[in-house]
Amino acid sequence: MPQPLTVFDSHHPPSDALIADCVHCGFCLPTCPTYALWGEEMDSPRGRIYLMKLGLEGGAGATMSDEYAGHFDKCLGCMACLTACPSGVQYDKLIEATRAQVERHYRRPLSDRLFRTVLFTLFPYPRRLRAASLPLWIYQHSGLQRLARRSGLINLLPPRLRSMEALTPRVTMDAFRAKMPQLIPAQGERRGRVGLLLGCVQQVFFRHVNDASARVLSAEGFDVVIPPGQDCCGALPVHAGREREAQDFARRTIDVFERAEVDTVVINAAGCGSTMKEYGHLLRDDPVYATRAAAFSGKCRDISEILAGVTPRAPRHPLPLRVAYHDACHLQHAQRIKLQPRQVLATVPGLEVVEVPEAAICCGSAGIYNLVEPEPAQELGERKARHIASTNPQAVVSSNPGCLLQIRAAMEKLGTPLPTYHMIELLDASIRNTPLPR
Ligand code: SF4
Ligand code: SF4
Repeated sequence: MPQPLTVFDSHHPPSDALIADCVHCGFCLPTCPTYALWGEEMDSPRGRIYLMKLGLEGGAGATMSDEYAGHFDKCLGCMACLTACPSGVQYDKLIEATRAQVERHYRRPLSDRLFRTVLFTLFPYPRRLRAASLPLWIYQHSGLQRLARRSGLINLLPPRLRSMEALTPRVTMDAFRAKMPQLIPAQGERRGRVGLLLGCVQQVFFRHVNDASARVLSAEGFDVVIPPGQDCCGALPVHAGREREAQDFARRTIDVFERAEVDTVVINAAGCGSTMKEYGHLLRDDPVYATRAAAFSGKCRDISEILAGVTPRAPRHPLPLRVAYHDACHLQHAQRIKLQPRQVLATVPGLEVVEVPEAAICCGSAGIYNLVEPEPAQELGERKARHIASTNPQAVVSSNPGCLLQIRAAMEKLGTPLPTYHMIELLDASIRNTPLPR
């Protein structure tokens, strides 16, 4: 007889069978950032899996309380436990299912609900984000920001808003520039036809990364199709347990790229890539999209996978720079991509890539984690910044915009500010023989 569900409803609770895969060995503990911070078993992967089991089976302590939900909210979803686990426990599936249950059954405090509503009404929608960029541009460029920071007024804000202020990228005119062309033809003999995901936050605040991606792919022989009508891919809501929203965004993304008839969908943000490669799972119950979603996921590649998979064609010019390479968690753990970005960077003459100690541990960015959980995120950011500074680099490189923002803010706070670049910006600068922006 199945046990009654006491905490979770019957819509895809965390799987009993996946929970049973955990043999409690504890090998995952040293790579878990929250366990590293607090040494608390219930804030480790093993402890969280135990809490999921408790939620399934019922019994003492199995209620959707602040404390119960808090242990899951504190999880960064960094998936370091996924790569560390020798038993192959699929923590990604477990936490995704659990977050959706928490989202449905946990009543958050009013301020938390309001804050999350603002984030999810704004971030996944590029048009709204672009509109919000104008007051932000005025704040940053009029001297108001400098005044607020120097006078200490900023410290009067609640921690979440303070964190948001510190992490917001500098808005440039790029945010308001015309849309990218729908097709950027391949240079030389054509190697393939790829579709470029623009991302929601990325297309407003990191337009230069998308421009660089399109230029490099074209220079390396790919027709680059940029389908219009792209919104969020669903990564932001899926990581917050907002399952329906995530599914709607996934369906829309599939529609948009199916119309573009591309061989491959190229992604330059680690969090988006890891979500899109799992659309098959996200839409598994949808009779119209399940098969299409699985096929779509099979076409998704991180930009480093595409570039490392072909012989470099465009000549590279020297870029004499010592850079610390930061592995984004959703690339190294969720997608298990570590080698390819290094292979791509190795094609740039003069570029010295140094490894960062404790590379498996998250920088604290983790989607919206650094906004909703600012204290632990800041601690992790400072820990990462110290490790980066110890390698004495001239710049920091990563493949995820969120990590770049988090690291930039942490390096500034540490008093060792450094320029931060997406991997593709370095390759683009080398191919075009242009200086890197500061
Ligand atoms: S996803 Fe990251 S923070 Fe969450 S339990 Fe695993 S290692 Fe810890
Ligand atoms: S999740 Fe894996 S590594 Fe961690 S305790 Fe369970 S079996 Fe061991």
